[in-house]
Amino acid sequence: MRLMLPGLFDLQVNGFGGIDFNATDLTADRVVEALELMRRTGVTRCLPTLITSSFDRFAPSARVLARLAHPAMAGIHMEGPYVSPEDGARGAHSRAHVQPASIDDFARRQDVAGGRIVLVTLAPEVPGAMTLIEHLVAAGVRAAIGHTAATPEQIGDAVRAGATLATHLGNGCPQLLPRHPNVIWELLGADALFASLIVDGFHLPPATVKSMIRAKGLDRTMLVTDAMAAAGCHDRSAPADRRYTIGDVECELGADGRVSLPGTPYLAGSSLTLNHAIANTVRFTGLAIDAVIPMASTIPAAYMGMTTAGTVTADWDPDAGELSITP
Ligand SMILES: [Zn+2]
Repeated sequence: MRLMLPGLFDLQVNGFGGIDFNATDLTADRVVEALELMRRTGVTRCLPTLITSSFDRFAPSARVLARLAHPAMAGIHMEGPYVSPEDGARGAHSRAHVQPASIDDFARRQDVAGGRIVLVTLAPEVPGAMTLIEHLVAAGVRAAIGHTAATPEQIGDAVRAGATLATHLGNGCPQLLPRHPNVIWELLGADALFASLIVDGFHLPPATVKSMIRAKGLDRTMLVTDAMAAAGCHDRSAPADRRYTIGDVECELGADGRVSLPGTPYLAGSSLTLNHAIANTVRFTGLAIDAVIPMASTIPAAYMGMTTAGTVTADWDPDAGELSITP
């Protein structure tokens, strides 16, 4: 079935096609190459995402992204460094560079990024988080909750301070949680929060995706890839090609597409593409594809106060559960 889609919009992408946005030797040409490769998966706008790192590591990537005039580059998502230092909650973020939230530190990073940081993911329990959330909201920057082991009270405080999104809900939280209350239920139940989900089949089981979307609602759910450099590299089979980086962090791409920290169970980003995220969501939830496409296009765009860019032609095969983008 031939479909015309609004251009897809990915709020969280760390790299693509072997290119790592967090690499210190990032160049504008490399970013453009990644954006053009993402276009083949239907993405016409995105927020390149820079994860926890020292200011000196952050600055080179931020400067390159700040100067980029490509229409697909809609701003920078800064994920960390103001996140939980705990294993599990921290995910693949570097413990050495996790730090308390600080308006001064943010101002320095926003300055080097030319004011293009439009979304910040942070943990409410980190010292200084509430003050920074209020500062971000006043400056027109969206504040998201993620990589957190916050208490229900801390999540409530963050929402009152102006946080509006739960970043990759169900991931970036402790490996073991009390059945209730816990951080997942609190973020799921907070009506003021949109939720982004990584629907690659590894980050969340199908029943979890289905239940989360029902609880959060169709109009407050967004699909992200959280892709890293391994995305778009599935067909490479040589072992040397199966190691990728996010900044300083080395990751391993499994034959099944799962991206992990070598020797650990921890996921480290994904190799997901947004067209596959849509198809997976249809398969996992039983929703019509027309109900899922906005989660990867108009809803994230509207959440950011932006619009989608252009249209994309795709072929939807409901029997195979495949959405292929037509060049
Ligand atoms: Zn993350």
